[in-house]
Amino acid sequence: MRDSGGNAPIRIIALVGNPNSGKTTLFNALTGLHQKVGNYPGVTVERKEGSIRLEGDADSTILDLPGTYSLMPGSPDEEIATEILLRKATHTPGPDVVVCVVDASHLERNLYLVSQIIDQGLPVVIALNMVDVAARAGFSINAKNLSHELGVPVIPTVASKGEGVAQLTQAILNTRTPSAKRQLWRLPETVQKETEELVGILRNVHRLPAPQALHEAISLLTTESSLLDRLDRYAPEVLAHVRKDHQKLDFLGYERRAVFVESRYAWIRSVCAISVTRTGGARKSRSDRIDAVLTHRLWGVVIFLALMALVFQAMFSWSTIPMDLIRKAFDGAGLWIESVMGPGDLRELIIHGGLAGVAAVVTFLPQILFLFLFLGLLEDTGYMARGALIMGRVMAKVGLSGKSFIPLLSSFACAIPGIMATRTIENPRDRIATILVAPLMSCSARLPVYALMIAAFIPQRSVFGVFSLAGITMFSMYFLGLSMALLMAWIFKKSLLSGAPPVFIIELPPYHLPSIRSLLQLMWERSRLFLRQAGTVILGASIVLWFLATYPKSDGGTPAQNLNRSFVGMAGHAIEPLIQPLGFDWKIGVGMVTSLIQREVFVSTMATMYNVQSEGGGTVSLPEKIRQEKNPETGAPSLTALTGICVMVYYVLAMQCFSTVAVVRRETNSWRWPLFQIGYMTALAYTVTFVVYRIGLVLGLGG
Ligand code: GDP
Ligand code: MG
Repeated sequence: MRDSGGNAPIRIIALVGNPNSGKTTLFNALTGLHQKVGNYPGVTVERKEGSIRLEGDADSTILDLPGTYSLMPGSPDEEIATEILLRKATHTPGPDVVVCVVDASHLERNLYLVSQIIDQGLPVVIALNMVDVAARAGFSINAKNLSHELGVPVIPTVASKGEGVAQLTQAILNTRTPSAKRQLWRLPETVQKETEELVGILRNVHRLPAPQALHEAISLLTTESSLLDRLDRYAPEVLAHVRKDHQKLDFLGYERRAVFVESRYAWIRSVCAISVTRTGGARKSRSDRIDAVLTHRLWGVVIFLALMALVFQAMFSWSTIPMDLIRKAFDGAGLWIESVMGPGDLRELIIHGGLAGVAAVVTFLPQILFLFLFLGLLEDTGYMARGALIMGRVMAKVGLSGKSFIPLLSSFACAIPGIMATRTIENPRDRIATILVAPLMSCSARLPVYALMIAAFIPQRSVFGVFSLAGITMFSMYFLGLSMALLMAWIFKKSLLSGAPPVFIIELPPYHLPSIRSLLQLMWERSRLFLRQAGTVILGASIVLWFLATYPKSDGGTPAQNLNRSFVGMAGHAIEPLIQPLGFDWKIGVGMVTSLIQREVFVSTMATMYNVQSEGGGTVSLPEKIRQEKNPETGAPSLTALTGICVMVYYVLAMQCFSTVAVVRRETNSWRWPLFQIGYMTALAYTVTFVVYRIGLVLGLGG
């Protein structure tokens, strides 16, 4: 580093670093109150920008970039950070100086990103943060040695106490040139040669500057071969060359991705060896002590399961009040419309078609929000990584790595982001296996279906004094999905996709208090999405369904008979033989068909059908109506608790979501896997539901 005062002013300073390294704390210390918060265009990644006066009267802008572990992005957050650092973002100019915030207590892992950024030829200053934590853990880091090895200034800081911030500001001011020590890490001979050759080609063909060419070369050499076809921004001759490289390296037995990661780490370890001294026995930090219990082989699992059970319990008991309020509001709206409109088909359509369908689904908004709140809390406190560790052991037993855990867990929200998250799994077989089982995890669209069946058939009773039967039933459905996912993954890994189980390494971030702000933001996003669907897809489907359930009109019959003779009735009766073995009546059959649009349409379908057939009106709740449904011939209840359970089991296991099919097709780049997935899941759903129904009948639950 040279002091080159008198250079062009520093306009943009980017703060980058791993999540939880202290970026935001440092950002606050540097900018004080001069900050603006917004979103990056088109994504829900938060953009934080502030200003700082470095010298004279020119203000510089500081960006608190989203946390990232590397410049090979795996998430939207990481993508934004990478784009900005590589000067590819159109919305944000490239930084003049990059401040790498490094967590001194996890030096190796943090230096990985630093090394990538230094390779990009950007002027870098390192804020060696959390030196207090490192000291307590028994490490001392020699900033001078580290600075010498990396060729950039290293300033020790304790951001939370404001220590080192003044020195950091001074260092930023003095840093205008990139490190002279770029690309010091070495690859194995052949890989090095191929990489350099590809860098040369990229520079020639695409006119890329050297650092960017290196970045692209690594990225190309480490992608899956099957994904190359889609990279149409590269010239065909470049891709052809890359394909040859893949073949060669694969043939030589290199795990292509691992080789690059490992080589960089090897160099980092040598840097650390020179810069880090142990100052004594490490005292266990508070996080370590908590982890001794929470990731314990036995207790960890017990606590994990108990926590999950608690989540479902809470989801049920806490959401009843807002759910009642929403229901009352819709009832009120229905009564009001009834009072201002004359009787007739239009009024029926509005109340029993549109309003009832939307109401039935929107009622479940509180439960869905609770689900996301809990998932967010687990993530924010750092518990999620522990979950991945605990489940990693289970995953290993079925031949998957802990890397599959996060995609599977995200699938509790929705299989689509879950399947997209499988991109972080390097091994293609593991990735396919994970994609195949991801939709078995109960997504939030199933929640309303379970909730309706539980409200209709599961008695309000408590178990062991603390848990409600409803909560336990719901938990069992999630558990069924999870265990089936693991079982199927095991089967796939033993047969179609056999291969050695991968190694799994995970960093456990320290525990910390969750951010209320980001939780609220998450819930707000979710509500908006959910309500928008209720207002469009669900409303539309309900209206269409109302027509089909009302026409053709037959005179003189009871409303129930009319429904029977309507288009919906005809269609339902046509498919009834198919689903009778599962204990379902034709109305459930109609729901199964309409919910192909989206699973929660099942609920609005039920609402519309039961509303159309009910005489008089709105005071009887939907679960009540379902419970009271009588078989017209025998007079016995046509749906029982056993039916309710069978419906839930079917919904746990069946592949009923076209959007997921489309995403699987895109992610696997063929129709083979999505079709296979539809096939095996349908067979699984049908068989298991059939067995459950039969066993239930034998046990006398069907009466
Ligand atoms: P970010 O994810 O990189 O933005 O990290 P944050 O700035 O949110 O910091 C994560 C946690 O580390 C917060 O609880 C901070 O208070 C804490 N923290 C930040 N810097 C230091 C430090 O130097 N020492 C200690 N002990 N804690 C710190
Ligand atoms: Mg932050």
